[in-house]
This record gives sequence, structure tokens and C-alpha cells, in this order.
Amino acid sequence: MKFHIMTLFPEMVLQGLNTSIIGRAAEKGLLSIEAVNIRDYTLDKHKKVDDYPYGGGAGMLMQAQPVYDAWKSIVDRIGYRPRTIYLTPQGTTFTQPMAKEFAKEEDLIFLCGHYEGIDERVLEEIVTDYVSIGDYVLTGGELPAMVLADAISRMVPGVLTNEESGSTESFEGNLLEYPQYSRPEEWMGKKVPPVLLSGNHQKVEEWRREQAILRTKERRPDLFEKAQLTEKEKKLFS
Ligand code: SAM
Repeated sequence: MKFHIMTLFPEMVLQGLNTSIIGRAAEKGLLSIEAVNIRDYTLDKHKKVDDYPYGGGAGMLMQAQPVYDAWKSIVDRIGYRPRTIYLTPQGTTFTQPMAKEFAKEEDLIFLCGHYEGIDERVLEEIVTDYVSIGDYVLTGGELPAMVLADAISRMVPGVLTNEESGSTESFEGNLLEYPQYSRPEEWMGKKVPPVLLSGNHQKVEEWRREQAILRTKERRPDLFEKAQLTEKEKKLFS
């Protein structure tokens, strides 16, 4: 997986992504992350990349020319037009299934906006996917791009070791993960649930499944509606 992140703040995304699991995967060659500075492509002699919006209104807009030329430089280099994701609060909200789907791509371009956003005409020309990380407005697309790159990287084969991946994670089958405990057996008077110390594998699995269902029902009723439950579970937990 090769991430090409178009941004006005390359150091921000590189610093954010070159650590821990993602940094290690990049070192191993399973991933590569490049930040393309949109400002390097402006034809303006003062290196300006933004201007006032037609029709008035607050703030400045990123102009079409530098964004298009930065994108074109990536496409010319890799030889095809990969999926180009514009991080925007106006996009589809990012989910785990989307992370899995994007992880199948060879290359992904992320376009990070700033100021009031980007001239619509260049978006129409280059963007294949509009993705939001939630219903709130951030100052720029860099943090959202990092969120997507992190979640997508975890789905690239080989990036997570078996120990890190775990067998079940939140959002598998539309359920949240069950609660987990580590040593010591008792902390501040709170004991680890005895079933987890029983050594009975089947009982542990049953308990975890039940906890995952209860937790999802309590914390995420919207997800619980879509959870993949057996008929017996449906009766028991509805
Ligand atoms: N004027 C835009 C609007 O109302 O939709 C918001 C622009 S925002 C201040 C600047 C940039 O931050 C956007 O172009 C986008 O790249 C990024 N951004 C802000 N919030 C985001 C979110 N929730 N998800 C993804 N990107 C976001």
C-alpha cells in the first residue's frame, strides 16, 4: 500500500505516521507514506495557494491550479489514476468496512483541505471518494488523513502481528469488543471475572460474546440494530 498525502503541512502527517506499528510496517516495506506539498506546485510567484471565494463569504479557498498540478505529478509518476480521497466533513462517514475496502488498493491519494476548503472544479476533476471522520469541523484534512491511513494500514496483510491483531475486534459483525483484563488478578479491590481464570476455553468464548453483545446494546444501540446475532441471542438480548 502506498499512501500519497497531498497537504500544505507535510511534516505534520509524516511525523504523525512514522511511529509505532505504521512506522515499523513502512520500514519493512509493507507500506510507504509520502507527503506531497501542494505549495510546491503553485505558479504564483509569492507561493500563494489560496484566494477569496467568488460570491463573498468568510475565509479563503484553496485554488484549483496547485491542487491539480500536485495530483497530476503523482499520477504521472505512478502511471495511473488511483482512488483519490478528499477528506471533508461533507463526505461519507468513515467506517471499519471502508478501511478494509481501501486496504485492497495498491495506491491511495489523500487530499487534505485547509482554510474554507477547495475550489469545487478541481474536486470534480480528481476526487473519487469524499470521506469524513465525523460530524464536526476541523481546521484541516491532515488529522483525518492520518486517521484513515492508520485504520487502513492495520488491514494491510502483514502489518499487524498475530499478537496485535487479536481474533476479534470492535465492529466485526457490528459488535464492539468485550472488556479485557491483564495482571494483577485484583486491582483496587476489583477482581478479574472468574471465568477468565477458569482455563475453560468454551466458557471464556461464551462470556466474551455475551459481554460484546451487552456492551454494544448499551453503548451503541445503532450498531446493535445491525449486529449479526443468532436467533437464540436475539431472543435473549432483545
Ligand atoms: N468550509 C468547509 C465546510 O463547511 O464543509 C469546512 C472546511 S474545514 C475548516 C478545512 C478542511 O478540513 C476541509 O477542507 C477538510 O479537508 C478538513 N476537514 C475538516 N473537518 C473534517 C472532517 N470532519 N472530516 C474530514 N475532513 C475534515
